[in-house]
Amino acid sequence: MDNCIFCKIVKGDIPSKKLYEDDQVVAFYDVAPAAPVHVLVIPKEHVLESARAITSEHAALIAHIYEVIAKLADELHLDGGYRVVTNAGPDAGQTVMHLHFHLLGGKLGPMA
Ligand code: AMP
Ligand code: ZN
Repeated sequence: MDNCIFCKIVKGDIPSKKLYEDDQVVAFYDVAPAAPVHVLVIPKEHVLESARAITSEHAALIAHIYEVIAKLADELHLDGGYRVVTNAGPDAGQTVMHLHFHLLGGKLGPMA
């Protein structure tokens, strides 16, 4: 989609520090980390603006995203655990309207 920063990252038009890529998803480091480890996992296709629009049609994609997150957490040695966040809508502070999941690790505080 034009004017979507994450679509531009997928295409390589905007640089990113990618950790993982397959036919369905890309994972890259968040440019403004909110935790010692802060990675974004996104579908390559601009299928949904936010988690609010997820239906059972997206079940395989969402399961795959969580599998990738768990694999990355292993590779990043987040042995003590990690947090997955998806902001949906303005009240949650969503700034990029391309479905994405934040993988947060390291020493985390309580949830806001
Ligand atoms: P959200 O607030 O849930 O929409 O999250 C969007 C995230 O994208 C924020 O944590 C931003 O720091 C991050 N972000 C924005 N632009 C970039 C970029 N070019 N590369 C990496 N992360 C980005
Ligand atoms: Zn997009």
